[in-house]
Amino acid sequence: MKTLLWFRRDLRLTDNPALARALEDGEVIPVYIHAPEEEGDWAPGGASLWWLHHSLAALGEDLRARGVDLVIRQGASLETLQALIRETGAQQVLWNRLYEPALIARDTGIKQQLRDQGIRTQSFNAALLFEPWTVAKQDGTPYKVFTPFWKACLGLGVPVDVTPAPERIQGPAQLPPGETLKSLGLLPDIDWAAGFTELWQPGEAGALARLAEFMDEAVADYDEMRNRPDRDGSSRLSPYLHFGEIGPRQAAAACQVAKDRHGGKAAHQGIDSFLREIGWREFAHHLLYHFPRTSDEPLDPRFRKLPWRELDEETLRAWQRGRTGIPLVDAAMRALWATGWMHNRVRMIVASLLTKNLGAHWLTGARWFWDTLVDADLAGNTLGWQWTAGCGADAAPYFRVFNPVLQGERFDPNGDYLRQWVPELAKLPAKYIHRPWEAPEAILKAAGVRLGGNYPRPIVDLAESRRQALEMWEVIKGTK
Ligand code: FAD
Repeated sequence: MKTLLWFRRDLRLTDNPALARALEDGEVIPVYIHAPEEEGDWAPGGASLWWLHHSLAALGEDLRARGVDLVIRQGASLETLQALIRETGAQQVLWNRLYEPALIARDTGIKQQLRDQGIRTQSFNAALLFEPWTVAKQDGTPYKVFTPFWKACLGLGVPVDVTPAPERIQGPAQLPPGETLKSLGLLPDIDWAAGFTELWQPGEAGALARLAEFMDEAVADYDEMRNRPDRDGSSRLSPYLHFGEIGPRQAAAACQVAKDRHGGKAAHQGIDSFLREIGWREFAHHLLYHFPRTSDEPLDPRFRKLPWRELDEETLRAWQRGRTGIPLVDAAMRALWATGWMHNRVRMIVASLLTKNLGAHWLTGARWFWDTLVDADLAGNTLGWQWTAGCGADAAPYFRVFNPVLQGERFDPNGDYLRQWVPELAKLPAKYIHRPWEAPEAILKAAGVRLGGNYPRPIVDLAESRRQALEMWEVIKGTK
């Protein structure tokens, strides 16, 4: 039988159940269809498209090395699949499932249409350890709190079976014509993403290399180091997981191997803690599936009436480009712009500043992240922003306003992260680097810092804005 294997965000050959089934059934025609408008309001942003370009290039090479080319097309998915069926005589279409509301609706429709015309279709789970409908509370309702959710998942048993990548893939004698990757126009016009290549190697080989490196070098200390933006202490697997260049079963299997290899309680704690973060990714998908409106609306209805502030262009720009005068926030926002990624600890801090101290709607930040993160993921981003803004599931309470100065002194104690991303402050001693406005004039001068000159004064009074945010909390508490 001839199969159209429809690649989406499962851009890998290892542990790819749709591919494994297609191989069992005969000839495989691997296809990627670029149809961003089908993702509705949350079509991939600039950084994601950059990643996608390189990931498709890598997938194309991996397939070619196994004997078949990737056919790239653009246009409406259903019509493109139908055209490919006509051109190739394929009898079935296989794919791995996605869970965003717009894509579930699209894929359900496509499945029905193809079946109605006599084409076999089947979808598989490549992206999650536990699909959202398989985990529920005793009363059948979805979890809204992470700890019991993860406990229930662990009770079900974390899957660790991984299918190896095939050595050869049998394609048809002739493939249908495709478009070039370049013709999709995924790369940005301006070379803003030039720095991304230093940090990232999109594609399955890059994902596997990063997983191996993290498991060898960092996972044992993960529990302690995961909060430190100044260290390479987290896995940085998020974009690879988002694009399915690696799957969570592979991460879980690697954890099991690492446990056997690393003795010691601390190492095991690190491994469990890393797996728990993969659990947060599961939880994010669980929430978005069961509460599909939360990509745009707060889960906690009390927040619908909150009078979020409309930021003026200049203030928003200062936050976006790291010119707030609050060093840790500026470092994080500049790192995001330069590398397409931001450490989790500082994601929470910049999000707290935007939503609490500046009072802006969380979607203002979510949209910026969406365009600039290489790991922009509707489930993860929605959870992260709603959690920090206090309006989501298992959220940080609204009255928790992160203090970027204290957080900086705790998690970047020597100021190394700041020195890397805010070179204007690099010569300040650690004592003042997170609070330059308190440094004596002579120290500022010796370090070449001119507040309001080569480095801005804070755009917001942290203490006063915190007080205002707490007042807002009183309003929210009283709202039903
Ligand atoms: P690690 O610490 O190594 O964790 C391993 C994996 O677990 C990650 O790759 C990721 O897939 C998952 N994970 C870890 N923490 C979380 C979390 N809190 N929620 C969901 N999954 C998690 N993550 C995204 O993948 N895409 C986003 O668009 C995104 N937006 C965020 C926005 C805000 C405001 C916040 C506070 C968090 C956001 N996160 C998002 C979650 C988290 O910051 C990133 O997943 C993490 O920083 C990625 O780095 P890592 O791969 O080194 O993570």
